Amino acid sequence: MTTPEHTLVGIHAAIAVGAHRRFGWIVIVLAGIASNLPDWDGLPMLVDMARFESGHRVWGHNFFWIILSSLIVAWSQVRYHWIDSVCTRSNRFLPNELRFEKSTFIVPLLVLFLVCFSAQAIHLPCDMVVSGGNGLSDWHIKPLWPVYNVGYVFPLIPWGDFGPTVILMTGTILLVKVPTRLSLVSAATLICLCVYLLFRGWMRGML
Ligand SMILES: [Zn+2]
Repeated sequence: MTTPEHTLVGIHAAIAVGAHRRFGWIVIVLAGIASNLPDWDGLPMLVDMARFESGHRVWGHNFFWIILSSLIVAWSQVRYHWIDSVCTRSNRFLPNELRFEKSTFIVPLLVLFLVCFSAQAIHLPCDMVVSGGNGLSDWHIKPLWPVYNVGYVFPLIPWGDFGPTVILMTGTILLVKVPTRLSLVSAATLICLCVYLLFRGWMRGML
């Protein structure tokens, strides 16, 4: 999946389970950010394409990275409140209706860890089902790398398929239009995404 798609999957997943009601907007922002953390292993492409091919969807796409990074992110948020700080400082660049209010929620370390862990864990199956196509090779996901070097991929749609973006953005617009039904809208959005993936996979003979 693309970066915007991963971000929106994380945000919709957090809203669908009602995390915003219990812990405020900070955990929603965290879910959006954490959804992309596994993709740090794509950064080597900036200097060396060969390293990119060997490391992408491996170095950051495994549970050892996910657990370690989730511990660091959760601890750093409790210690430094960097999400609150960055978001409220960004207010000067945002229109009034999009500005972050000061959060009154105290989010426990365990909750921050679970949000970060879950958002990154969801990233793995998302990448498994959106892979290859358009001349690209399938990138196998190795969830237990480096201990267990077996990769998995199940390409239901090719990378770059615009369907997930359309569905996730439509759901995001509906969140704004129907603010009293946030969890319902996000859950419906994710269900539509799953149905789309299964249908496209079936159309391509993968199911
Ligand atoms: Zn990825």
